[in-house]
Amino acid sequence: MPQKKPTKKLRNKKDDVKYITFQRESDLPPAAISLASTMYNKTGKWRSIRPVIDYQKCISCMICWKFCPDAAIRIVSEKPQIALDYCKGCAICAEECPVKAIELQEEKK
Ligand code: SF4
Ligand code: SF4
Repeated sequence: MPQKKPTKKLRNKKDDVKYITFQRESDLPPAAISLASTMYNKTGKWRSIRPVIDYQKCISCMICWKFCPDAAIRIVSEKPQIALDYCKGCAICAEECPVKAIELQEEKK
């Protein structure tokens, strides 16, 4: 099937970028996750970098959980836990963590 060209709306123009500051967790957008992908596709082998949570810094805000596109972050005893079988190392969680509690380490294969 031929691929459709993205419409103007989908193109990412620099001028279109909006910066939003969230004051409360309830202001966050709905999570953009694919539960089907997470349940059936183990994408952990794609990873070249590994996110590691520093629980001394973590404030349990769950922003990483909200933003992980593969729903690879689970909440266990009110703390985030990364399911490495499914984490593909996109680093979005580390980028979004407000206290920089997620360190990116080189994945050793
Ligand atoms: S790097 Fe973080 S955001 Fe990306 S898949 Fe892994 S846990 Fe999810
Ligand atoms: S975003 Fe950072 S501080 Fe918030 S729960 Fe995740 S690791 Fe912890």
